[in-house]
Amino acid sequence: MAKMRAVQVPGPKMPFELVEKEIPIPKNGCVRVKVQACGICHSDSFTKEGAFPGIQYPRVPGHEIAGVIDLLGEDAGDWKVGQRVGIGWHGGHCKTCLSCRRGDFMTCEKLQTPGISYDGGYAEYVVVPIEALALIPENLSAVEVGPLMCAGITTFNALRNSGAIAGETVAILGIGGLGHLAIQFAVKMGFRTIAIARGKDKQPLSKKLGAQYYIDSESQSVSEELKKLGGAKVILATVTNSKAINAVVDGLSINGKLLIVGIPEEPLSVPVLTLIGGRRTIEGWPCGTSINSEDTLAFSELTDVRSMNQVFPLEKAAEAYELMMSGKARFRVVLQTGF
Ligand SMILES: [Zn+2]
Ligand SMILES: [Zn+2]
Repeated sequence: MAKMRAVQVPGPKMPFELVEKEIPIPKNGCVRVKVQACGICHSDSFTKEGAFPGIQYPRVPGHEIAGVIDLLGEDAGDWKVGQRVGIGWHGGHCKTCLSCRRGDFMTCEKLQTPGISYDGGYAEYVVVPIEALALIPENLSAVEVGPLMCAGITTFNALRNSGAIAGETVAILGIGGLGHLAIQFAVKMGFRTIAIARGKDKQPLSKKLGAQYYIDSESQSVSEELKKLGGAKVILATVTNSKAINAVVDGLSINGKLLIVGIPEEPLSVPVLTLIGGRRTIEGWPCGTSINSEDTLAFSELTDVRSMNQVFPLEKAAEAYELMMSGKARFRVVLQTGF
């Protein structure tokens, strides 16, 4: 059997290991993808730390995959060898649960995710179900696509389903891996865009990304500043600090929505009277399916939204993962596996 290189987690909390594995053969309804790049996402820590129920080890992480179809299984529909495809968090669904029967595949009770349910993109090849495939447009490179398959689709899809319309005010809380993409998407969607981050040093970057306003949460009261700007119809929270999220709720406009895509470490504690008095809401958003990813890629190509990436070769996965976990990456970390 032909072999491939892969970086796997042997068990919960164990160090990564670079191994040779058999190149997998696609089953019915699946294709094999030659991986060219795979982004490293904070959610890869579910696999690394064993924090997701039911993971079987060893497991190859990675759900921000970009590559080329190189082998079709039986019943692979109209997919063709040579097509460039991306695979994200939505890595397959069961087609029989209540959500699936209602066509809401993202909330499938048995949702599959590469790197968790089956081996993911820290490898030279992956096998994935066809419903997980998103076509990559011509002008995006594999490295550019990787982070768009999770950080990108999550922020793009949350914003376009947020209910805000062109010209309304949208604030992005946090300028990190998610936030730096969210600012670009918000601007390109025609929202009046406010960036919120700690300290003055991120202001020039927020401006470069297109934000028209900047609030420094260290020296200013975020909700007071938002009120001065008329309140935000939507505040997209991309940070993991629950106190920072609590502090923005008073800055929502009437009918405003706090939309959460980052996972805070602590539970939220929000002023309920503010919610009731102004019909304000709090909502979470789970990225999206492969066709939403395809829309994200097409929109990014069309409007020049790009992730800022630090790129490592596959064999440096452990180092790349540490950089991502340190919070010091600017802004997404991507493994480049092939060309
Ligand atoms: Zn992710
Ligand atoms: Zn299902």
